[in-house]
Amino acid sequence: MSSASFDGARRVPVAVNEPVRSYAPHSPERASLQARLATMAAETVEIPIVIGGKRLHTGDCGTVTMPCDHQHVLATFHKATPAMVHDAIASCAAAKAEWASWRWEDRAAVLLRAAELLTTSWRDTLVAATMLGQAKTVHQAEIDAACELIDFWRFNVQFAQELYAEQPISDHTMWNQLDYRSLEGFVYAVSPFNFTAIGGNLPTAPALMGNTVIWKPGATVMLSSWYLYLLLEEAGLPPGVINFIPGDPAAISDVALTHRDLAGVHFTGSTGVFNNMWATIGKNMDHYRSYPRIVGETGGKDFIVAHPSADPQALAVGIVRGAFEYQGQKCSAASRAYVPKSMWPDVKARCIAMMSEMKQGDVRDMSNFVAAVIDQKAFTRIKGYLDDAKTSATIVAGGECDDSVGWFVQPTIVETNDPAHRMLCEEIFGPVITIHPYDDASWSDILTTVDATSPYALTGAVFARDRAAIQEASNVLRQSAGNFYINDKPTGAVVGQQPFGGARGSGTNDTAGSKMNLLRWTSVRTIKETFASPTAWRYPFLGAE
Ligand code: NAD
Repeated sequence: MSSASFDGARRVPVAVNEPVRSYAPHSPERASLQARLATMAAETVEIPIVIGGKRLHTGDCGTVTMPCDHQHVLATFHKATPAMVHDAIASCAAAKAEWASWRWEDRAAVLLRAAELLTTSWRDTLVAATMLGQAKTVHQAEIDAACELIDFWRFNVQFAQELYAEQPISDHTMWNQLDYRSLEGFVYAVSPFNFTAIGGNLPTAPALMGNTVIWKPGATVMLSSWYLYLLLEEAGLPPGVINFIPGDPAAISDVALTHRDLAGVHFTGSTGVFNNMWATIGKNMDHYRSYPRIVGETGGKDFIVAHPSADPQALAVGIVRGAFEYQGQKCSAASRAYVPKSMWPDVKARCIAMMSEMKQGDVRDMSNFVAAVIDQKAFTRIKGYLDDAKTSATIVAGGECDDSVGWFVQPTIVETNDPAHRMLCEEIFGPVITIHPYDDASWSDILTTVDATSPYALTGAVFARDRAAIQEASNVLRQSAGNFYINDKPTGAVVGQQPFGGARGSGTNDTAGSKMNLLRWTSVRTIKETFASPTAWRYPFLGAE
């Protein structure tokens, strides 16, 4: 039932960030990955539902296709029925008894082994699945599916150690202790398409803290999610600790979100979906055993604001990399930029020159910098914005879309003089950035505009060489971004270096990959033990004068 006895203060290995492999031409890692890409592209994987370690098939299937070649089917996945979601919740309860009673170091060991497997034997599989299934270039797949997830697992273990070490003061008469209990019930983890690493982190962070989990990955991220699940099994994750539940999101949520034992939601995705989940929980408040912990990291409308003192080349690189890497499908992607009118012609020319060198196409051709957007829905949405911008604003570069083979949208720069244009306010989630050139003399006013323009507050960047301008931007934009960058693009947060999260409409800011996130998956019990129990009921003040 409980883990083997062990006395001694254990220390987890010190976490260090996983080095990023280059995959340069003729490197051994490139040859090995190319071989894995070829085998994976030639097969069609059948993905089951997994409850309590058992593989289940319903015959009601969805398909996973390649965004770069949308007729190419990579996998089919079985969709869970509502009854299966009930079974998965029961499986969480059954597995919890043992999992939560283990010493936390034994739970940590599962994640440390998972990290080591991902570093070595599973790396090609996860990187290749992320390239084929989610259309990431090799570099984008490497920093996500390999490095970021390895970092999440190693650093979370170290953060858990630090958290558990936080204990109250005691003295010789009493011993005060915090017991970091898991939550009562199950955690519902719902992951987005755009980061394999987030799919790996959402269920495992609560599991590390002793919880059991229902994990519902998005349909378009199913291939890499399935391989992640298999990796966790190989790492020693006991059956039922994480139940793998693909299927219709609304049908699964109808059961999970209204269940009496819902202890928490760990969500990353769009603001609208998260708001609906929160509203459903609100409507069911009388029904739960505890107050569910609701953690969600959601949308963004991330900005770059440049001061007239900015370095034009650094700014242009920040715009191009920040807006177009992974086709702008990062919650942190730069999608609006405010550039002084005096600088814009120069910066525009630099951006256009860089864009003219960027190749777009299938991720298996490693000379491509940009690939396809995730699916038809995204393609149609982004194309709609571009069609609108063709008449309501100016397309400076790009603007074309082609869905004949894959869901390809050209990297696009739009320009508008209207600071309230919808291209500057709404999350588009594609390779599109809108520039608003502003009068150089209106620096302070433009900061107020940046702050007030969108409902989100995820990431943002200021480019300036003038220190007073940097300080002013940092102050005025204090609530406008959870991750604020100075003279750097607003993407690319690294676990352990830049804890990630946003406020306002961008989420609950429980910063993924930090101690603050782990805190949400534990509910402390305070224990006071006295070594000197009082033996008289009277206090001294009651004594005779
Ligand atoms: P999405 O909201 O469409 O989907 C996210 C998850 O929610 C998926 O698993 C999906 O199946 C599920 N879902 C969809 N409809 C649902 C419903 N009715 N009930 C319950 N679950 C439902 O988001 P996406 O397209 O996968 O990801 C892109 C979005 O995620 C963008 O808005 C982006 O900004 C955001 N995002 C935010 C962060 C962050 O850290 N803030 C990180 C990555 C992505």
